[in-house]
Amino acid sequence: MKPIIAITACAEDDLSSRLNAAYSKSVLEAGGIPMILPFGVEADVAQILSISDGLLLSGGHDVHPFHFGAEPSPKLGQIYPERDTVELTLTNAAIARQMPIFGICRGIQLLNVALGGTLYQDIDSEYHSSKLLKHTQQAARGVATHYVNIEQDNVLMQIVEREQIAVNSYHHQAINVVGETLKVVAKSNDGIIEAVSHQSLPFCLAVQWHPEEQALAGDEVAKKLFNAFVEASLKYKREA
Ligand code: MN
Repeated sequence: MKPIIAITACAEDDLSSRLNAAYSKSVLEAGGIPMILPFGVEADVAQILSISDGLLLSGGHDVHPFHFGAEPSPKLGQIYPERDTVELTLTNAAIARQMPIFGICRGIQLLNVALGGTLYQDIDSEYHSSKLLKHTQQAARGVATHYVNIEQDNVLMQIVEREQIAVNSYHHQAINVVGETLKVVAKSNDGIIEAVSHQSLPFCLAVQWHPEEQALAGDEVAKKLFNAFVEASLKYKREA
């Protein structure tokens, strides 16, 4: 039996769900069964998670600043409150179950906010560093454009086994204050937080880049991330 990976969808204006094929392809390739969740299911999260083995928080639009005690800064992008609601509910419920979670791009931001952290709503206007890199690349989605330095002794280092990797970058938001139970496991050379993991959960990892696009382009490190997540989900399934 393969593990079922619940994947949150990206919202369109009429709240249609859409998901880049790279997510489901990467989950399938790693041996999992992708299950894309629509909006409006927050009341039924317990039942949905009871038939799931892992939660993948996908990329997409900005998180409403109300969720981290802020008001919109001028460069805040599009927000979909309905997506925030279902993802925050799912994340809290998955954490309570100690279910494996993998966050990608918006997913790292959502996880951080769910655990009490805050975000830069727009790094170009709010993160003041002369070293700031370009985090909204114009290169194709599978192309790596900046480096990420990985800390010692954490799940990301265990998976990747390298101190530095090259990643793609499609974000204008980033973690500011880190959620209490999270730890920073990777940063880019300008100090932007690029990966976090939970301090005590068996597998709860989130990255600011898009490994699903890199995996599709053949990147071995990105494939390792999906393999580790699906493997943790299979372990969870067997022990549940
Ligand atoms: Mn980046």
